[in-house]
Order: sequence, then C-alpha cells, then structure tokens
Amino acid sequence: MTDERSSDEAICARGGWYPDFTTRPSAPAIWQTTAFDIDGLSQLEAVSSGREKGYIYTRDGNPNHEAFAHDVAVLERAEAGCVAASGMGAMTAALLGHVQSGDHIVAARVLYGRTSQLLNHLHTAFGVDVTYVDAMQPDEVRKAMRPTTKLCIVESISNPTMEVADLPRLVEAAGSVPLLVDSTFATPCLLRPIEHGAKLVFHSASKYLNGHGDVMLGVVVGSHETMRRVRGLASLYGVNSNPFECWLASRGLRTLPLRMRQVSETAMELARFLKSQPGITRVFHPGLEDHPSHDIARRLLPNGFGGMLAFDLTGGKPAVESLFKALGHTIPFAPTLADARTTVSYPAGTSHKFITAAERATLGITDGLVRLSVGLESLADLKRDLGAALRSVG
Ligand SMILES: *Cc1c(COP(=O)(O)O)cnc(C)c1O
Repeated sequence: MTDERSSDEAICARGGWYPDFTTRPSAPAIWQTTAFDIDGLSQLEAVSSGREKGYIYTRDGNPNHEAFAHDVAVLERAEAGCVAASGMGAMTAALLGHVQSGDHIVAARVLYGRTSQLLNHLHTAFGVDVTYVDAMQPDEVRKAMRPTTKLCIVESISNPTMEVADLPRLVEAAGSVPLLVDSTFATPCLLRPIEHGAKLVFHSASKYLNGHGDVMLGVVVGSHETMRRVRGLASLYGVNSNPFECWLASRGLRTLPLRMRQVSETAMELARFLKSQPGITRVFHPGLEDHPSHDIARRLLPNGFGGMLAFDLTGGKPAVESLFKALGHTIPFAPTLADARTTVSYPAGTSHKFITAAERATLGITDGLVRLSVGLESLADLKRDLGAALRSVG
C-alpha cells in the first residue's frame, strides 16, 4: 500500500494494492464479483458498521474501487476517496452529499458543460440555487456567498481557454464553505488543490488518471467523514463503478507522472510553434507569457502547465472543418481528451454547445476555436502533422 511519504512515482508505480492481500500475484487481481461471502452474522454486523474491514456487496464497495480511490486520495493528500461510474457520477454523488432543496451553490461560469447542466437540473428539479461567478475574480465569489451556501465549485485549469484558478484566494473568498476543485486537467502531478486549502478534489478519471482513452470513471477525494457520506450516496443512487473499470484505471495510473511530464513538455513547445503559424489568431496555453493566467500558473503549477491548449483559427468554422479533414486519422477529432494519442475537439459544437452563442462569446469560445489534447507522440510528429494540415487550410 502506498502512503504520503512516497514520491508520486512510487505511489503510482506501486499502486493498485488495497487493502493488504494475503497472496501475492505480481499484478492486482480483478474482484469481479457481485457480493462477498460472509463468515456469519457477527462478521456481517462488524463489517457493515465499519468496525471491521471488509466487503459485502460491490455496489457498496469492492477492493478494486478502493485500490484506485485510495491511490488518488494519497496523491491528492486527502484522507479518503470515492469512485463512481463516470466523472458525472462522482459529481452527482458529491453534490448530493452537500446540498438539499433550498441550499445554494456558488459555481464558476466556465465549467465542463455537463457540470453546468447538472447544476441547472438541480435548480429546476430540486430547488437548489446556483450563482455563477467569474472564478478569476475571487471577490465575485465572496459577494455571491449566502448563509445557505453549501459548496463552491471551480476548475483548476478551465476548459477550453485554460484559465488557472487562484486557489488560495478562492479558498479565502469561500470562507467556511468547502471549495470543490475539478482538477481533471491538472492532475495531482501538477497541482494538489488540498494543499491550497480546497476541501474536495474531483477528477474525471476517464481522462488523465487513466490516460489511455478506454475507461469511464470518476473519483472525488476529501475527508473521511465527507467521503463516507458521498460513498453511501453513490451506492444509494447507483452511480457506483465496477471492478474492471477501476482495475484498468489503476493500471493507467502507474504511468501518470511520466505522462504528465511528457505532455506538459510537448504542449509548451507546441503552443510556441502554433503561435508562429499563419491562420492562427491566438493560442491559449497557461505557459505562454501572454496568457491571462500566466502569473497564477507560474505560482501554482511549478511542475508544468499540462497537456491542453486551444487555438483560434482566423477562418472560423469553415477553417476548422478543413483542418479536421486535413488532420484525418493522424490527429483525430474526438470529443474527449487526455488519450495517449493527440486529439482535437471543437468546444463550440461539443462541450459548450448547450449554451447560447452570446454566452460562448463572453467565455472566449469562438467558432474558430480548436482545442488540442497533446498526447505521447514526439514533438516532431505533431509539428509535422499540424504544420501540414494548417498549410493546407491556408
Ligand atoms: C470529462 C470531464 C468531466 C466529466 O467526466 P466523465 O468521466 O466524462 O463523466 C468533468 N469535468 C471535466 C473537466 C471533464 O473533462
């Protein structure tokens, strides 16, 4: 089992083992089981009350769930974690664990599109109030707070313009209200929101934590007490994950530090390269000196700025259409990110299609904006493929 004295590399490379196992296969097993046999009524009572460690029914808990959640919690310096069937499942459980009808949430205006949709649904269906604020202005967070505010939600690096949240100032602005940070783009290798005072960290593990584009999984970490409540709700609402998905994610997690180092390095160089290309008006990457969050990024992301960037094509939507055609299968258009392959996506038509064009404009999401998720190819491969495709767009 890993603990917080280990390096990120050791936590990741030795991960996937929880709790102590009695036999020693060299790779963790998959506990592909619906339930666990129980020694008797006294054991049932001991395990279900939490006095004794053990498992009863996979919806409530499974060693593969716990292995992955535990490793992410250790990496994030949190006490405990909870996995769910997807990022949205983990967000659902985290929200249900903090608010009820009549409560209030303060959320960043720039959030993963489905997260905003989920908050809007909580509002219309269950009467939870939501105030959206510019998370780059901690004073807006402070002013939005009400006596009924139970949660404040921001992204550490936001999609698609890569703004970096000033977590220490946001924590201060939120006061006694817990700050939940969606840190999917940063990962604990680049940023640990809890060290800056956040109470909860969320990841779509479908992205970097797994990193191979073949898993749907979400995870949220925080205090023991909060995670017990969130796990209970994840089970009750049936957003629990399954053993195989967690096993795959544990396998992906082993190489997280290597992957984050590599994509951060490549993305930085690629951002500089794209800035020099004709037909591109603007490149969004927190490592670029002209990015609005550059100073915050230098302070909070000393190990690298991550593998995500966006660029704006002068030719608008038609230019995007021809670029994606020209990229073909070398850099595929796929509505995801953090795969081992580099992929492009179109925020105006995917993650942010549910908001109006006017709202998109205020968020800087133009019709020519392309988001690039840098993968593990070499910088030379990517310069060649993107360079050629951009030249063909003209
Ligand atoms: C993908 C994503 C989510 C949702 O996660 P799923 O695993 O797709 O349900 C939430 N936040 C961010 C930033 C994401 O990229």
